[in-house]
Amino acid sequence: MRRVYLDNNATTPLAPEVFEAMRPYLLEDYGNASSIHWFGQQAKAAVEKAREQVARLIGARPSEIVFTSGGTESDNAALLGIVQAARAESRHVVTTAIEHHAVLHTCKALEKSGVSVTYVRVGASGVVDPADVERALRPETALISVMHANNELGTIQPLAEIGRIARAHDIYFHTDAVQSVGKISVDVEKLGVDLLSLSAHKLHGPKGVGALYIRKGTILRPLLHGGAHERSRRPGTENVPGIVGLGKAAELARQCLAEAACRVGALRDRLEQGILASVAQVTINGDAARRLPTTSNLSFDYVEGEGFVIAMDLKGIACSTGAACSSGSVEPSHVLSAIGAKPEQARASIRFSLGRFTTAEDIDTTLAVLPAVVEQLRSLSPHYRKEALSHQPSAVSKDASTRLSR
Ligand code: PLP
Repeated sequence: MRRVYLDNNATTPLAPEVFEAMRPYLLEDYGNASSIHWFGQQAKAAVEKAREQVARLIGARPSEIVFTSGGTESDNAALLGIVQAARAESRHVVTTAIEHHAVLHTCKALEKSGVSVTYVRVGASGVVDPADVERALRPETALISVMHANNELGTIQPLAEIGRIARAHDIYFHTDAVQSVGKISVDVEKLGVDLLSLSAHKLHGPKGVGALYIRKGTILRPLLHGGAHERSRRPGTENVPGIVGLGKAAELARQCLAEAACRVGALRDRLEQGILASVAQVTINGDAARRLPTTSNLSFDYVEGEGFVIAMDLKGIACSTGAACSSGSVEPSHVLSAIGAKPEQARASIRFSLGRFTTAEDIDTTLAVLPAVVEQLRSLSPHYRKEALSHQPSAVSKDASTRLSR
């Protein structure tokens, strides 16, 4: 069976060039980057090269890049590190209701330790209003944390405006840019951020490695305790092959950013237009213009998301739901709920996420099987059949449901 991967927001395939760059550091050049002998110095040079590659992708200085174990650690290190180093009275954080759990659950942990957190709401667009962020500020606000691109909807947040507000109020500004780095242009100066989280496996790099950009002069307490690695900002023996992979992935992303965004955006539009032309009662979730070129989040009325993902998987197509599965029950996604989607619309939401390796053939294969999958799932829905009946005074036949789903 031909398999199609449309779940690149979950993780991306490793680029072959990244694998080749990592290979020597898994086999021959296995030194500890802190050792003073030849092996150690080989490893150290590779880490420093990667630091330059990552810095260049986001317009930072190499000394402002700290390697971590991924996006989750970078988010934790930014939020906890800033709050713990802040003055005793600075016990307030402003974030949004649509952040990834790496930020939201860290905020919940902060709340348990007595920090107050304001979760700025977003409207149906899935884009936060900078004026709402400004209204949420208090004299004791230590940090603003707003993600760059939302992982479920792909919506891009107005960071430059929020950055100006943060600067005017002299408040640190962190962004979780895990979904945007390597997909759209990200420049820490233009965005006005003091801290930025990124993760290698979202840009065709390896899993379990990421980075936190920390603007020079930013005061934060390290998350972990140990050695003096990463200029005493993140202890632990460096994951040299992973870091080298992140560096190479950053270099490749920078080289083909504009071309890839344009090509992948055209494929995403082709997928979306193809679906809208062949299936009725489909909604695009979030602002259709202000979003990543890689992401499409659609709700198919009368279709249960998990069932859709399984049915598509049986046909060889990998996509995902906007809904998170927790303790056996399918909870509606907090992002879909935050944009005002009704629980049934949230449960009917599907995320298709494309990447640099997605082809036109992948899209055509998906479009060839998707309408029949939707039709089959809808035919099993009692609500859909009831709706069909209300539109068709005569007895509902197979034809009636077919017509409705076109
Ligand atoms: N932040 C966002 C927006 C994400 O999409 C993800 C991963 O899905 C993370 C953080 C966590 O990154 P990692 O998997 O590297 O820990």
